[in-house]
Amino acid sequence: MFIVGFVFILGLIVGSFINMALARYNTGLSFNKRSFCFSCGHMLSWYDLIPLVSFIMQSRKCRYCQSKISFQYPVVELITGVLFVFIFFKLDPSFSVYYLLLTTYYLLIFSILLSIAVYDIRHKIIPNAFVYSFIILSFLGLIFEILNLKSEILNLLAGPLLALPFAALWLFSKGKWMGLGDGKLTLGIGWLLGLSSGAAALILAIWMGAFYGILILAISNMERIKRHLFPHTKTFTMKSEIPFAPFLILGTLFAFLYDISFADIQSLFSKLLS
Ligand SMILES: [Zn+2]
Repeated sequence: MFIVGFVFILGLIVGSFINMALARYNTGLSFNKRSFCFSCGHMLSWYDLIPLVSFIMQSRKCRYCQSKISFQYPVVELITGVLFVFIFFKLDPSFSVYYLLLTTYYLLIFSILLSIAVYDIRHKIIPNAFVYSFIILSFLGLIFEILNLKSEILNLLAGPLLALPFAALWLFSKGKWMGLGDGKLTLGIGWLLGLSSGAAALILAIWMGAFYGILILAISNMERIKRHLFPHTKTFTMKSEIPFAPFLILGTLFAFLYDISFADIQSLFSKLLS
């Protein structure tokens, strides 16, 4: 119980750091500057920066200028906390050095992936610095596994093979259907999970993305009909461009946490068909 709490709080702190990094990425602000309110510029003290707690205590307002604070902050912190607990237990906790290194490695990987997902949702683009770090880390991890005979050398092909369809889509549509960022992300996913689990993650992502797309389409059609029948009621429009990275990352997380292989997807598919 004590360890779960510790890992969760560590996740909250890292989540808070992710929020800070995402808010400053590509803005010219350095990461080691003290935090300040983006509305009034007031320096924040340590008790303004306690993950979750400050947000709740200050009823989602800046203490100095009363401007509203985005829900992104507590949500990302909470997700990181829960994510850390899941990854911690996925890897059979023990007190060996190897376990600690392995856990740190995966916590770092999934922190980067979460950052990419949040940034893609907000800005519709995958930040290069984050995705390149992910690609390098997953490649080094795979090399380490191959040297320790825990993975086959063939898995070196997993990254390029899985990224190929995305790169082709990007090339043929001249970047209209799919950004190259999704291809870069898939390169890292292939090296992280290997060919079988990587393919499973991709298929899960496509299913979730398609489901979400259909849902959005249905909602926007319903809104259109509503606007037609009741022209004076408030309607809302959905953004038509759906970021795909969050689905790729969710698929990767599921495939990793539950060891989903390509064969699992195949057997699920044949069960659904029969
Ligand atoms: Zn302020």
